[in-house]
Amino acid sequence: MPANVKAGSTAEARIAALADVCVKCGLCLPHCPTYRLAASEAESPRGRIAFAQALAQGKLEPSASVLAHLDNCLACMACERVCPSQVQYGKLITTTRAWLRDTGKIPAGARMPGRLVAHPRLLGALLRAANLPGLRQLLQSRAIGALLRPFGLARMLAELPRLPRIESAAIPATVSARGKVGLFPGCIAASADRDVHLAARRLLVALGYEVVVPAAQGCCGALALHSGDAAQADHLAQALRAAFADSRIDTLLVSASGCFGTLRHHVFSGSKIRVREIHEFLAADDAIDTLTFRPLAERMAVHTPCTQRNVARADGAIARLLARIPLLRIDALPAPPGCCGAAGDYFLRHPDIADSLRTQTLDVACACDPQQLITSNVGCRIFLDNGLRQRAAQVAVTHPIVLLAQQLEN
Ligand code: SF4
Ligand code: SF4
Repeated sequence: MPANVKAGSTAEARIAALADVCVKCGLCLPHCPTYRLAASEAESPRGRIAFAQALAQGKLEPSASVLAHLDNCLACMACERVCPSQVQYGKLITTTRAWLRDTGKIPAGARMPGRLVAHPRLLGALLRAANLPGLRQLLQSRAIGALLRPFGLARMLAELPRLPRIESAAIPATVSARGKVGLFPGCIAASADRDVHLAARRLLVALGYEVVVPAAQGCCGALALHSGDAAQADHLAQALRAAFADSRIDTLLVSASGCFGTLRHHVFSGSKIRVREIHEFLAADDAIDTLTFRPLAERMAVHTPCTQRNVARADGAIARLLARIPLLRIDALPAPPGCCGAAGDYFLRHPDIADSLRTQTLDVACACDPQQLITSNVGCRIFLDNGLRQRAAQVAVTHPIVLLAQQLEN
């Protein structure tokens, strides 16, 4: 919290103090995806900060349009990254949303995706069932979509993740020559990024680490935290800490950048377990020089998720790792348009804005004529994959860790 926030102060005072740091310079505006789309101050970081401050000070009524402008924020943190006054925008928007829930100004019930991610095994079983041959087409048919639209489920079915095919390549026996590290599978990523977790284990074992993945892990709570459901986020954090209580690890690696910030700054804040983004961890390990990667003469467009760039601040690590694969041609997508529109469960709740951002991202990506699109966050991977299929583009969406492990010399 900024120095102007007193310990034990009310949520209203904390919001007002966080907002007070903003000097209204507007330097963040060109970096905000919703401002770029709407060209409206109300859809900008500066506008949202002003709304939050005025609401907390009782100078503004929480009208439907004000609440919608606050809800339209993707929590991409592009504004926080570029702000010269170091406004803690992430803390401001989550504190504001939690206060709006606690005071009954927005509904308190958990949203459907939030309820599902709290049960990764059930979620995995549903995803596997929905991807059975024939069933996926049926669920995504117009008739079923029309039936489920009143229940708000049509968009979820339209954007169903495809689960990766796992080659049964054996992972070498675990060794602990260089110590133990934990690996965080997450909730939806536990199913949709299974290939990533296997690839990560393969790379880490090749580097001499013992990899610990406690079975009882669940969701990091990012969806709950960003929607203002602090109680649910705390509940999930407590369960995760318990899952790792006996793990004897001091490093927990995260391969989905969307989970990183919540794990580091909420779940394991103050813990002896240090949360690290896996690309940054691998790129910083000198032992990576001992690994050899097979050449791959392909063109890759690299999309950097907002959380990779603005929260983990590890955007350069992916490029450094991929540069180890000889002959690989890498086209990094430019920072704007930035957010692809996935943003946790945002793409389910705000289809129009999300689809516009996805279209912008895929237009830029497809202009590179890539054979694969690389991205390091599970939500972006799912959303961009569905977008490419809608365009009938023959471009696979791959996680950098999968590509690295695939090219690793045995
Ligand atoms: S959030 Fe930062 S960059 Fe944006 S208007 Fe406020 S002070 Fe300026
Ligand atoms: S978090 Fe992203 S969408 Fe929200 S105000 Fe900041 S830049 Fe805009």
